[in-house]
Amino acid sequence: MDANYYQSWTIEIAKNFKNELPILGLGLCEESGEVARILKRYCRNDRYLEKSEIEEITKSMKGELGDVLYFVAFLASKFNLSLEELMLGNMHKLEQRMCNGTLLDH
Ligand SMILES: [Mg+2]
Repeated sequence: MDANYYQSWTIEIAKNFKNELPILGLGLCEESGEVARILKRYCRNDRYLEKSEIEEITKSMKGELGDVLYFVAFLASKFNLSLEELMLGNMHKLEQRMCNGTLLDH
C-alpha cells in the first residue's frame, strides 16, 4: 500500500472528529503505551518462549504498531506533513547520526 493513500484514508475516516488535536496527541500516547506494555511483557520473560507465545506477541505488536501508525499519519496531516516527508527526514537524520557515530546515543 502507498503511504500517501493510507494517510488520506486516515483523514477520511476521522472527518467528524471534534477536538482533533487533543484526541490525536492522547491517542498517540495511549497507543505508544500499549506498544510499551507488550515490550515489557516480552522483555521480562527470561524463559524460553513457546512458538505460540511469540506468535501471540507478534500479533499484538502488529495491531498496536498499526494503531500508532494511524495516529502518526493523521497527526502529520494536521501539520501538512506527508508520511513520505517524515520517512525521508527520519532516514536523513539517522544516516547523519550513523556517519557521526552517534546513532546509538539516542
Ligand atoms: Mg491499540
